[in-house]
Amino acid sequence: MANYISMDNLRFILHEVLQVKDLCQLEQYKDYDKESFDIMLDAVKTYGDKVMFPVFKEMDEDPARYEDGKVIVHPVIGQFMKDAGENGWIGSVFNYEDGGLQLPSTIQTASAHIAQSANNSMPGYTGLTGGAAHLIVNFGEQKLKDTYVPNMIAGKWGGTMCLTEPQAGSSLSDLTSAAFLNDDGSYKIKGQKIFISGGDHEYVDNMIHLVLARIDGAPKGTKGISLFVVPKKRITSSGDLENNDVITAGDFQKMGQKGYCTTHLVFGEKDDCQGWLIGDANRGLACMFQMMNGARIDVGMTAASTATAAYHASLQYAKERPQGRRIKSGGQKNKDEEQTSIINHPDVRRMLLLQRAITEGSVSLLLHASMYQDLADFGPDEQKEKYDNLLEILTPIAKTYPSEMGRVSINNGLQIFGGYGFCTDFPLEQYYRDIRIMALYEGTTGIQSLDLLGRKIVMKNGEAVKQLTKEMIESIKAASAFDELKPYADQLKNASKELEEVIMHLLQYAMSGDHERYISDATIFMEMMSNIVIAWQWLKMATVAKQTIITGNTTYEVTFYENKVLTMKYFFKYELPKIKSCKETLMSPDCLTIVEKNEKAFS
Ligand SMILES: Cc1cc2nc3c(=O)[nH]c(=O)nc-3n(C[C@H](O)[C@H](O)[C@H](O)COP(=O)(O)OP(=O)(O)OC[C@H]3O[C@@H](n4cnc5c(N)ncnc54)[C@H](O)[C@@H]3O)c2cc1C
Repeated sequence: MANYISMDNLRFILHEVLQVKDLCQLEQYKDYDKESFDIMLDAVKTYGDKVMFPVFKEMDEDPARYEDGKVIVHPVIGQFMKDAGENGWIGSVFNYEDGGLQLPSTIQTASAHIAQSANNSMPGYTGLTGGAAHLIVNFGEQKLKDTYVPNMIAGKWGGTMCLTEPQAGSSLSDLTSAAFLNDDGSYKIKGQKIFISGGDHEYVDNMIHLVLARIDGAPKGTKGISLFVVPKKRITSSGDLENNDVITAGDFQKMGQKGYCTTHLVFGEKDDCQGWLIGDANRGLACMFQMMNGARIDVGMTAASTATAAYHASLQYAKERPQGRRIKSGGQKNKDEEQTSIINHPDVRRMLLLQRAITEGSVSLLLHASMYQDLADFGPDEQKEKYDNLLEILTPIAKTYPSEMGRVSINNGLQIFGGYGFCTDFPLEQYYRDIRIMALYEGTTGIQSLDLLGRKIVMKNGEAVKQLTKEMIESIKAASAFDELKPYADQLKNASKELEEVIMHLLQYAMSGDHERYISDATIFMEMMSNIVIAWQWLKMATVAKQTIITGNTTYEVTFYENKVLTMKYFFKYELPKIKSCKETLMSPDCLTIVEKNEKAFS
């Protein structure tokens, strides 16, 4: 079977860079240790090998679809929901009393990386179910928890998040789905939701939708949005399931992730759809954000994992494909020499290193972010705010960098296959199509960039960005202790100063009240800052690798650690310098994209 992930890489980040076992000193995770984490990860890998990877292509060729009023998905989804429920994967991070395994988010994210590398469509079904159940656990009344959560985390019922409407995508403040209070305290729900992932299929007995809607008379805008649990089938007083007037009107046909259904749902067409409020009225968006933040890390990891699987396919192909001769041995003129494998051509090695730099850098960032989540939730009280700030500022980056640069990575991987990359005989074209959605759902790149520059940079008077800089300075100091790494540490130090300069420059617009100018190039800012953040991840990994080589306390072959240092150097030579052109654009006095500056640009 083809290789789709390196477990050694994953373990290196978890155990040697992050020292994930330290989490076991926290009360919340005291029942775990390094070995139990490894056993769980191995179980996911075995499952990925046996069940998920073998149907990856099949799910693309036999896509989810709408037929005779039903959504048809691959039968493996039935087995997956059942197995995930039985293994405790759906509610793995929930507390014991809520039926969970009380596992750190870091380990859950690492497990997701394995599963998503094996098959990027399947884990969405359980991921959304777990996310929806988590919202009910955190904000729902006990009765709602008892009614829904056990069946959801057992994989018997599915879960979704229903935000998007035809006229309200990025701008949720325009949503119009409505809720009317019933005499019994429940609500009558009316409205339509589109693009709902995992929204309907025959392999669960019920589907539990977490729906954003406006209570009759609520204020306009985001402050009038509430969150409801709306089951496809409600429970009668005798305990049976009856239809709750939730109709599936269709399934969107897509360019990628074809095995993952994307439904159009209609609530309350017959005026008989019941929903139950969770959290406070008009505070629904704040509750939903909890799920969305987790989902953003998850989308980032799906992108990083899809690109990881593509990298392994490219690597194998590059080793096996003979083509051309080394320039060193006379190139094409040397007819007597056997063809060399393309992996020996510098341009192919460059593309492979680019893939490795992007994918491993992304995985490292996502695991870091998840660890900050664990520390923000269960770490020492006096440090919770710090970790929360770090998580806040890194979340839009952790979603966007893997989504955007993962696509670049796969594009280069496809190039390695030459013409075969374009053909369905090889998996790269599928990975290329599959990853395209990651920069769109869970907030487009444009919206994530507005969040980063418009909200996160300025939050708490710049506290989050200050804390992130502090973390980077610590890593720079640690790397500077090694002669070989010192030049790279200096390069990152300069890059971080350049970022500060750009922020100060842009803030002048915000302070003068020109907010549109401040955020007009937010996406370029995202490009610059995320490049620096990934460089930081690489410097951290290279420092651990270098230290390990010197002490000789190696878990893997020495070349494994040397390759970490090599890939860091690649990132600093080929990728990090790109921040200079971002800086030039961001500091340029020209303003070309604001309507009033060039009103006739598209006339
Ligand atoms: C396969 C798939 C699965 C999905 N799953 C779900 C799901 O499970 N649940 C759910 O609720 N939704 C889901 N979505 C919806 C998804 O989150 C939205 O498509 C996305 O948020 C963008 O909204 P939109 O499509 O309406 O695009 P628009 O909001 O119309 O955006 C179009 C373009 O305009 C830009 N833009 C919009 N507003 C601004 C602004 N203020 N400033 C700058 N640029 C702006 C955007 O960045 C984008 O480039 C899914 C979508 C797809 C395609």
